[in-house]
Parts: sequence; C-alpha cells; structure tokens
Amino acid sequence: MFKTTILIFTLLFCNFSESKYELPVKTANRKSINTLSLTKIGEFGLVRKARPTVPSHYHTGIDIKRPTNNYTDEAIFPICEGIVISKRQDGPYAQLIIEHEGNPKFWTVYEHIAGIKVNLHDLVKPSDPIARFMNKAELNKYGWQFDHFHFEVLKKYPIRLNPDKSKPERFFSSFSLICFTEEKLNEYFYNPIEFLKE
Ligand SMILES: [Zn+2]
Repeated sequence: MFKTTILIFTLLFCNFSESKYELPVKTANRKSINTLSLTKIGEFGLVRKARPTVPSHYHTGIDIKRPTNNYTDEAIFPICEGIVISKRQDGPYAQLIIEHEGNPKFWTVYEHIAGIKVNLHDLVKPSDPIARFMNKAELNKYGWQFDHFHFEVLKKYPIRLNPDKSKPERFFSSFSLICFTEEKLNEYFYNPIEFLKE
C-alpha cells in the first residue's frame, strides 16, 4: 500500500513537472525547462540599449545557449507541431516563424539560425530538426555575438510583410523592435520560460 502511494505520488509529480512542449534544443531532457541555459543577457524582458540603427527596446524572447560544444551541426527543433509560415535566409538574421494550433493559437520564432531544413508551409514536428546553430565558419564571418539562437512565443498574429524579392519566402515579421513599454511586451509576447513550463 505504502509503495503504491509512493508510486502514484511519483507519477503525479513527474506529470506536473513536465512540460507539454519540448525544448527547442537537444538537452538531457527536452521536457524539462531546468535543462535549458540562456546567455548572460538572454532573459526575456531585459531592456536593450539603442544601437545606431535600432532604438532602445525590450528583449522580446530568450537567447538560448548552444547546449553542447558542437560547432558543426547543433540542432534546433520546434517546440511542438506546427506549420512554417515565414522563412528568411539572409545570413545572421535567418529566421523561421511557425504557426501552432491551440486555444488560443500561438506562433514561435527561431532567429539567428542556419542550415534551415524545412520549406514554407511544411508541417513540422518536435522530433525533427528545422535548422541548426551557426557553425564556426559562420560565427567567424558574422560575429560571435550570434553564438546563441533567439526564441520567441507570440500571442498575436505576426505582421504581414509586402513581398520582397531579396527575401521571397519572408511573409511575416515579429514585433521584436516595436515593444517600447512593458505593456506592449506582454500584449504581444509570452515569456518563453513561463510558456515552456506549462
Ligand atoms: Zn535575443
């Protein structure tokens, strides 16, 4: 009886501590948020200082650290099933946006990625890589500040863009550079860490 009680308790506890989503990187346990590492300034909601072409704004996602020392093909995965609705492949700003069914619907953004493996309108699954972290050659070319990948979870439909011949599959943009107040930040974005804990 005592053993059974412990078993039931363990099962319940494990279920509650496990996320219904999977982490977008290959850690020891992709269901456990505790295995995820962020860069030093990678937290959601940090105020980012103005740069010559970018005004001061809130960090609208998290910067995820490379989980291993693999500088060749460290994989990036979707957190759950979804459809690719936007893709851009211009160097360090390469980005995928994925739409997820749910109540309510939500969108995930994967940025500063490389080696994109999926096509526009593909159905993607958390078991299959969609891209990878930049490799050494790419980091040497674009800068080691990109030695992470930027991940966002959107509450609202991303911004539809006009067609651009230089980025023919980029149909949507996130709200990354228009969040100048905490209210706006929370109107458009989930805190990815809280979201993944669900
Ligand atoms: Zn970032």
